[in-house]
Amino acid sequence: MVIYTTVPHLYVHIPFCARRCSYCDFSIAVRRRIPARQYVTAIRTELEMLGPVWGQPLETLYLGGGTPSLLPADALTTLLQYVFHRTPSPHEVEVTLEANPEDVTPDNAAAWRGAGVNRVSLGTQSFDDRVLRWMHRVHDAARARDAVRTLRAAGFANVSLDLIFAVPADLERHWARDLDEAVALAPEHLSLYGLTVEPRTPLARWIARGATAAPSDERYADEYLLAHERLSAAGYAFYEVSNAARDGRRSRHNSAYWTGRPYTGAGPAAHSFNGRARRWNLSAWEAYLQAIEAGRSPVESEEVLSAEQQELERVYLGLRTSEGLPLGGVRHRSATLTALRGKGWLVENAGRLQCTVEGWLRLDALVAALTGPAGAS
Ligand code: SF4
Repeated sequence: MVIYTTVPHLYVHIPFCARRCSYCDFSIAVRRRIPARQYVTAIRTELEMLGPVWGQPLETLYLGGGTPSLLPADALTTLLQYVFHRTPSPHEVEVTLEANPEDVTPDNAAAWRGAGVNRVSLGTQSFDDRVLRWMHRVHDAARARDAVRTLRAAGFANVSLDLIFAVPADLERHWARDLDEAVALAPEHLSLYGLTVEPRTPLARWIARGATAAPSDERYADEYLLAHERLSAAGYAFYEVSNAARDGRRSRHNSAYWTGRPYTGAGPAAHSFNGRARRWNLSAWEAYLQAIEAGRSPVESEEVLSAEQQELERVYLGLRTSEGLPLGGVRHRSATLTALRGKGWLVENAGRLQCTVEGWLRLDALVAALTGPAGAS
């Protein structure tokens, strides 16, 4: 058994959703009524199991899902009071809540602020109602715009918007217009996700029976490049392959993941990492709950990273970020580096290797070239 220590970055997974989106294969629990009391008790019990390692200052707390904003505000408040009570927090803790626009009411927003949430990541995805219906989202574009206004009125100064790009061409989605709509709402941060077709999703079934076409690589590349162009012109800097922020508004929590720092996860499907090993919880809500209620650890499994896996992660995480990768570790691959720089996919800057935007489009291939058999490119 690997020893984990609790660390300044805590992720809490809230698995409940109102319904399943057409592209989503996450382990979620679709519920009309959220078992809020059971859920909060289970998370508290799991955090208690971490026992004596509590005591380190908390720097970031991320409430992800699922749809965390479905958790009733009083239950969320109880949960956060517990976490803050258990952890000294001398610095300002970044507390992010993932929220869907339909849950952002004035009462909820005020309660979230009061509970200590200071950053909201809003699942907007698109401002085209046809596309939102196709995605099986609950909200429409007007609700998304309203949600941002409501968050601002409640005092939130750090709002991130999620957008999904590269949807099938037959939807005739106007990506540039969606980007402009997002920018017009002046979020501090944007996360962009290319649509992927996961097995056992409604989207995979639609494609299998020919009801819609699979998103094309060409469309993915065009829309990714357009997003860089528009968002950069609007004052956002891409600090990670899929994330752009205004100055000082990077996600501190996600940046911890991308720089290989340890983190602790609680809740179904949550992952923890201690710098050399990773463990993860049972992903189904019922299985997680049963384990907790029986006094058993909810951990499903763990893996200790081999030296090769650690190197792969180091290169992959480094190249994801705008800071890039220290050149030292890959300098010996000079032929590969020359080839990749010649293609305009990588640049060297102050002893670090950084992806260009074109390079980020080919991130997996670059990582393979820099970690595979020497000489491959
Ligand atoms: S709201 Fe998020 S987690 Fe829930 S089904 Fe939709 S994409 Fe999946």
